[in-house]
Amino acid sequence: MSRHAATPATWVDAWEPAIGAERATAAFRTRFDAEPDGVWSAPGRVNLIGEHTDYNGGLCLPIDLPHRTYVAFRRTTAVAADDAVVRLASAQEPDAGLWSSALADVRPGRVQGWPAYAAGVAWALAEDGHAIGGFDAVVDSCVPYGAGLSSSAALECAVAVALDEAFGLGLAADAGRARLVAACIRAENEVAGAPTGGMDQSSSLRAQAGHALLLDSLDQSVRHVPFDLAAAGLALLVVDTKAEHQLADGQYAARRTACEAAARHLGVATLREIAPKSLDDALARITDDDQPTEVTQRRVRHVVTEIARVERFVALLDAGRVRDVGPLMDASHASLRDDYEVSAPELDVAVDAARSAGALGARMTGGGFGGSAIALVEVGAIDAVAEAVARAFADAGFHPPAFLVAEAAAAAARTA
Ligand code: ADP
Ligand code: MG
Repeated sequence: MSRHAATPATWVDAWEPAIGAERATAAFRTRFDAEPDGVWSAPGRVNLIGEHTDYNGGLCLPIDLPHRTYVAFRRTTAVAADDAVVRLASAQEPDAGLWSSALADVRPGRVQGWPAYAAGVAWALAEDGHAIGGFDAVVDSCVPYGAGLSSSAALECAVAVALDEAFGLGLAADAGRARLVAACIRAENEVAGAPTGGMDQSSSLRAQAGHALLLDSLDQSVRHVPFDLAAAGLALLVVDTKAEHQLADGQYAARRTACEAAARHLGVATLREIAPKSLDDALARITDDDQPTEVTQRRVRHVVTEIARVERFVALLDAGRVRDVGPLMDASHASLRDDYEVSAPELDVAVDAARSAGALGARMTGGGFGGSAIALVEVGAIDAVAEAVARAFADAGFHPPAFLVAEAAAAAARTA
């Protein structure tokens, strides 16, 4: 039963790590009639601010969720054995049963469906020069699927830390974790064939509990920014809208192309180089052959102002003023909705209802066209805000949303 039983809203509670480890271990025993070597886990993430900035050399600010993906794992063959086999099962993919493949056959174009995210990491690490052998793994997770909370990276990163330890790769420290991030990104881009900018994997592997991760996509450098909502009497409510709109892939590509074309036109490597104070001047210099100039101007304005909002958000956190970040969240949402045009009716309704019910700030999070929204709320108002959002969804005829409470949790690690 949920600790928020009073609300008609549906809550997705995080599992205690011991429970997650037990579930994955029990499923491993059933599947393989054997003990795993251990259980490794990795969190989903939610981005506080900084959307569609990663491919523009910009900044983002995710935190890790307490919701994690657990992988019970056993090494089965010595490194680089010719007969190495990978066997995988997931509690979230019961119909898929047990997936099995020769390790040598795991590569781009050869793995379909969910195993690409898991086995793909082994391929990418081998490509990076690491000696990997065969393994068995069983997955169980409380990270919502396809909600923009990065269940895909949680899966990749849990497998990555399991492979690191089981095969003695020595990548557990932060410099090594940056290599694991790169391998997980390659698995998702090249084996699973899904575009991803790298925020998800960096957060899942490199963030710290009690901190947001300021990630600079120019050089992948990170800074851990203290983020303690509880001390301020606040909470971060996440609304999984359950909405998934068509065209998301094409729209993502179109936004990216427009930004890259604008940067070329302005003679900069990325839009990061456009300072907010020279934005008007830059906008005046934009012309576009492929779409109305006015549209491209709005895309550029979003990126430049959003990067500036991340910097101001971080400055407020550094100054101990987490209560004051709400307006930046609101401005980010308006920019994504009006200038970047990646919101969706469900996201707008969630944000508006949360604010009307007293949220200090609210915005869509993630790439858009569906997924999740976040609202900064007083701890005592969590239920009331969630109820208000659930009611607004019912009134609008949308699918019932699901709710999570986020706190800055710990990165990928061995759990048992
Ligand atoms: P998100 O990362 O926002 O949750 P994605 O579409 O990027 O959404 O990733 C979801 C996909 O990742 C699923 O369709 C599945 O292929 C894979 N995946 C994530 N978690 C699991 C899991 N626990 N078991 C099996 N596959 C998973
Ligand atoms: Mg994903």
